[in-house]
Amino acid sequence: MLVATRKYFHSAADLLGLEKSARRILLTPYRTVKVELVVEGDNGSLLQFIGHRVQHDNSRGPMKGGLRYHPTVDEDHAGALAALMTWKTAVVDVPFGGAKGGINCDPATLSRRELSAVTREFIAHLHDVIGPNIDIPAPDINTNTEIMGWIMDEYSKYSGFTPGCVTGKPLQLFGSEGRTEATGRGVMYCLESALERDGKALAGRTISIQGFGNVGSNAARLMAERGGKVVAVADQYGAVANPQGLDIPQLMAHTRKAGTVKGFADAEALASADILSVPAEVFIPAALEDAITTDNMKQVTAQYIVEAANGPTTPEAHEYLVSQGKVIIPDILANAGGVTVSYFEWVQNIQQFSWDYERVVQELEKKMKKAYRDVQRLADDYEVDLRRAAFMLGITRVGQASSARLQGAGALVPSRRGK
Ligand code: NAD
Repeated sequence: MLVATRKYFHSAADLLGLEKSARRILLTPYRTVKVELVVEGDNGSLLQFIGHRVQHDNSRGPMKGGLRYHPTVDEDHAGALAALMTWKTAVVDVPFGGAKGGINCDPATLSRRELSAVTREFIAHLHDVIGPNIDIPAPDINTNTEIMGWIMDEYSKYSGFTPGCVTGKPLQLFGSEGRTEATGRGVMYCLESALERDGKALAGRTISIQGFGNVGSNAARLMAERGGKVVAVADQYGAVANPQGLDIPQLMAHTRKAGTVKGFADAEALASADILSVPAEVFIPAALEDAITTDNMKQVTAQYIVEAANGPTTPEAHEYLVSQGKVIIPDILANAGGVTVSYFEWVQNIQQFSWDYERVVQELEKKMKKAYRDVQRLADDYEVDLRRAAFMLGITRVGQASSARLQGAGALVPSRRGK
């Protein structure tokens, strides 16, 4: 992950003509925090974990990014994801920087009380270096609205009532309408923009989706409501396909009960890994990193790949797919709907004025479609793919803000070369 994000950064930095020193400044995290967390387990034994928070850049605003609870969480991984957040918030032009972090625990092995205790211990260690004007955590893998509520409660013990210290909260604790579906909705807006450019509509397009959790299922539901034909869906246990289009509300109901898409009636059962080769015009990876690699890139049938997951395509697979004329809408653009509605939540918390669902949806559509246009324009000007263009846009915006802050310093990012 770290290697891939660095490669993408340098490829865009080459096109922008960035000096070595500028690259170093832009890549080095602002602050890295590593803390020991010891809490009492339900059986009286002591549980020990390590918590990480990498705060990558704050030149455009307070740092923003998720908290992941997973045994693989470490500083390098959090650092790579934190940098992606910096470019992502700049691409959608919300006034945030980037951060990421988490705890190296497996929540499946913890009781609710233990999970709450370890979360609160983490915030007790972090409260001086996070906050609504410093760094604002959000949910990520294995963290949810309830955990965000605990974070708000714990932080408020130190600083008084501060709902803007975290986003992705429950509605009754000042969360935002439309936050749960925001990433899937943003994915749909990006796809609509790409199709529109090619003179096509979403209605009638065949779509396959890897991952049927929050992002994958909401993207499927919203696209099906607009006439998209979701012909295959995979999760970690298996896949289901129907060339006539799956009934998404029924599939969601089935998944809620069965815990997997497997066993859904009216569909052919496939192995999870077969999802790439199902004939479809659009493929949406919405599960894990490194989903498309040199091992399986030749199986991809779709013309449009919309990266709902973070880092689903390795650099080698990316180059291959682009050389085949495929359109890849990169993660830092495609899945930015989540952080955009997190921004709306923060704005509502600061103003103590709630927006209704319709307003959230309207503002999200405006932000996502504007970001798509900005990236596409750069891609056209420089004759590069959308990923290079998105990184160029993010790096330019962050570099310009950093230069403006560094008194007397030269520009980190040279102005555009007559383009
Ligand atoms: P989730 O935990 O709700 O769902 C993950 C889904 O992926 C599940 O259906 C799971 O079964 C499936 N999956 C796991 N391993 C798989 C495999 N090997 N093959 C096929 N499917 C597999 O997670 P989510 O919140 O939907 O996030 C999905 C991705 O989107 C992650 O990469 C996440 O970082 C990214 N993302 C999420 C948000 C958000 O707002 N939730 C925002 C930006 C990016």
